[in-house]
Amino acid sequence: MKNSGLRFTFLGGVNEVGGNQILLEDFTYNVKIFLDFGINIKNFNEHFERYEEPSSVKELIKLGLLPNAEHLSIENLYTNYEASKSQEYIDLETNVDGVLITHPHKDHFYGLSFINRNIPIYTGVFTKKIISAYSKCSKVSICNNYGGLEWNLFRTGDVLNIKGLKIIPVHVDHSIPAAYGFIIKTSGGIVVYTGDFRMHGPLSAMTQDFLKEITNKDLGKIDILICEGTHIHRGAIESENNVEKNIEQLFLENPYDFFLVKYGRLDWDRFRTFSLIAKKHGWKFIITEKDAYFYYLMNKDKIYESMKNPNIIDDDHILILSHGNAKYGWQEQIRQALHKKKKGSRFIKYNEIKELERQFLFYITSVPRDIIKKINPNLKGAFISSSIDPYTEEYIDNNRTLTRYFRQQGIPSYKVHASGHAMPHHLINFINSVNPVYLIPVHTEHPLFFKTFFKNSEIEVLVPDKNDEIDLN
Ligand SMILES: [Zn+2]
Repeated sequence: MKNSGLRFTFLGGVNEVGGNQILLEDFTYNVKIFLDFGINIKNFNEHFERYEEPSSVKELIKLGLLPNAEHLSIENLYTNYEASKSQEYIDLETNVDGVLITHPHKDHFYGLSFINRNIPIYTGVFTKKIISAYSKCSKVSICNNYGGLEWNLFRTGDVLNIKGLKIIPVHVDHSIPAAYGFIIKTSGGIVVYTGDFRMHGPLSAMTQDFLKEITNKDLGKIDILICEGTHIHRGAIESENNVEKNIEQLFLENPYDFFLVKYGRLDWDRFRTFSLIAKKHGWKFIITEKDAYFYYLMNKDKIYESMKNPNIIDDDHILILSHGNAKYGWQEQIRQALHKKKKGSRFIKYNEIKELERQFLFYITSVPRDIIKKINPNLKGAFISSSIDPYTEEYIDNNRTLTRYFRQQGIPSYKVHASGHAMPHHLINFINSVNPVYLIPVHTEHPLFFKTFFKNSEIEVLVPDKNDEIDLN
């Protein structure tokens, strides 16, 4: 048994995009923590059909979607699921001191349902809000069970202290709000874990804040940089600004009466871009009730200035698709919020879509595919598919299938793109600025690319396989 030094065990998220599960053990502080506890969504979707659920933790371990703790120096990582069904958590003692979650994409947090309830969860205030909103809007299941978890919430500027191990969370820009990176002051040196980030989004200043904090002279040399590398090998020159400009251009020459648009549900920036354009040109923007609820929550807390607009209550060009009586608490909440402000007329039913001209219709799988049959058949439309990182989201129809389907309906497809992940040159600049002793790429299918690229540099690239341990003294 080691009594000093560091050990990293890469249980998920290496040689693959997402499903990050990194066990960090600091033997001097006697601390064991997880950096993210996600599930690789691509692999998950390969094993489970839409709406299908695993039967047990064991099944997920067997499929390699959750770590097999038996081979590790940790005890009782998982909750006693049978007992947790009754919401009574009687989990055994564990030697895991915490699970740190960088951001609310499923490939970073989806394993939390299974965690032993004696393990504290550390995440951002708003990160937790989004996880809870997801949970409230999804059916109760083995994968959607956050009852009994002990949350420890932070904001940028806080310093976490786990048995003397200090962790500094700093916000970063990503395709979802409330994303963080961590600076960890271990007994073996400074470790930086980026989570997912980008430099080309509207809030890139936040990623710069993270970099500023990392390169702060008081911190000294960074020993280990665990860096996301989704797009290290390939990038498109892109920005959210360009998305807006390109759609504006389309409007200048626009022969269409409506657009079906598709983007990640919680991609606030994309929502804002489409909604702004709709408003500017006097079009309606139609979203589902569930989306309205998410955006309403974001408006309410508006952790960034840019989250004030669009405003679900005030913006009358936003219509909300609903039908039937409210079945769930969240539905009740969004309906009441609008009715209270006398905005109830902004709810529209599926059969009322026919009466609309000039509309944007937010389209993901929560809207039935035959939605276009509800649109006035005399109108001409186009489909705009916007980047959805398929490894972060719930099950989503793939673009090829959709494009084929729309082609048969006489609806051309477009792509506008701005990813949630840094482009190659941004990653390279970031890594060079951090200038760590060791670089460990995660969240990428091309970790060896880093090795090749940095081969003549002073930075030593380590490329662990899944379940590999890296010991540092
Ligand atoms: Zn992400």
